[in-house]
Amino acid sequence: MQSSLIPVESALEKMLDMVTKMPLIQSVELTQAAGYILAEDIISSINVPPADNSSMDGYALRYQDRLAPLPVSQRIAAGHPPKPLKPGTCARIFTGGEIPEGADLVVMQEAVTMTAFDDVVVPDSIQQGQNIRPAGQDIRQGDVIVEAGTRLDYRHLGLIASVGVAQVSVYRRVRVALLSTGDELVMPGTPLAAGQIYNSNRYLLQGFIESLQAEVVSFVQVADSYEETLNALKTASEQADLIISTGGVSVGEEDHVKPAVEALGELDLWRLAMKPGKPLAFGRIHSCLFIGLPGNPVSTFVGGQVFVEPLLKKLAGEKVTSRPLLQGKVHFSAKTQIRQEYLRVQAIWQEGAWQLHAYANQNSGVLSSTVYTNALAIMPPGYAVSAGDILDFWFY
Ligand code: AMP
Ligand code: MG
Repeated sequence: MQSSLIPVESALEKMLDMVTKMPLIQSVELTQAAGYILAEDIISSINVPPADNSSMDGYALRYQDRLAPLPVSQRIAAGHPPKPLKPGTCARIFTGGEIPEGADLVVMQEAVTMTAFDDVVVPDSIQQGQNIRPAGQDIRQGDVIVEAGTRLDYRHLGLIASVGVAQVSVYRRVRVALLSTGDELVMPGTPLAAGQIYNSNRYLLQGFIESLQAEVVSFVQVADSYEETLNALKTASEQADLIISTGGVSVGEEDHVKPAVEALGELDLWRLAMKPGKPLAFGRIHSCLFIGLPGNPVSTFVGGQVFVEPLLKKLAGEKVTSRPLLQGKVHFSAKTQIRQEYLRVQAIWQEGAWQLHAYANQNSGVLSSTVYTNALAIMPPGYAVSAGDILDFWFY
């Protein structure tokens, strides 16, 4: 019954709703924290910079003293606290040096002239406050500088270091178990016998998952056998937060994933209004979530983008927002029936807009389509486009 196809958005929502608990928290050195999700707000206990300081090599003085030649009464280098500035004098100061009490501007060294007595004469054009970086101009004491739920990258590490924090609380990485099903599969590196094909999904998924900062803790390839599938799932569920299987989720005689997961936990088998990737299984075995993607490599690829990525983000404790979509002008004609289609396209910026060129063969067995393109264009159900029309897309 065609009307029973489930829209992609409701399937995703249901999956995300099944993620109910936050991941465990661990403490890591700041140097090791890139890629982790922050489990606490980072609040600054200091002002950055802590004191007013000079942005130039030059001379610090009082604005009111500017008209007379000024003797140099002290020398202030970065890292060495100054004394209050004697009235009627100036201080030799270097970039990062603290502004002495009383001074209210810095003149850069190139702008001054020296008298025969080595007193400093400043130009007319100076203004109060010039060349001073005020205390707290970057961060104020008490500011939340990075929020919990943020995935840390090198920029955050720099900012967190700037407030003196060396250790942060993060969520433990999501542990993923991979399971490939299919009598026909062999691993690369071994010769192919008649009827066999190489297991590509495992490599595709492992790389994808690692690029999302999750950890692949186990991988098993099983034949189309109920017992093997059951045993592999049982072991995987004890090691991982999420099991991702490929293949065997249709309802043919060789498809054992559904009964095996049902025997160990609970499962929904969905027929999605989605192309590629109509059959999709989702459930749990105890506290381990399970997602079963169809075996066609492009279905695995698209299922990874559409479902696995947001699921991993939620499991990781990251704030999940819907993926930002771009708009591009299509250079092809296409028509959808009742399923939402994800077309592999090459997006090129030309004439002030994204131009979308579809890969010629959109068959879900053609994995080349993912390498020779850079984006997925989304065709809603019951939709038609021809050259010049606009489609939403995202980059891989
Ligand atoms: P299935 O979902 O098990 O019916 O598989 C659908 C198609 O994907 C079949 O042609 C399988 O041979 C192929 N396939 C399944 N798993 C893999 C895999 N790990 N790597 C490459 N192709 C696969
Ligand atoms: Mg199969």
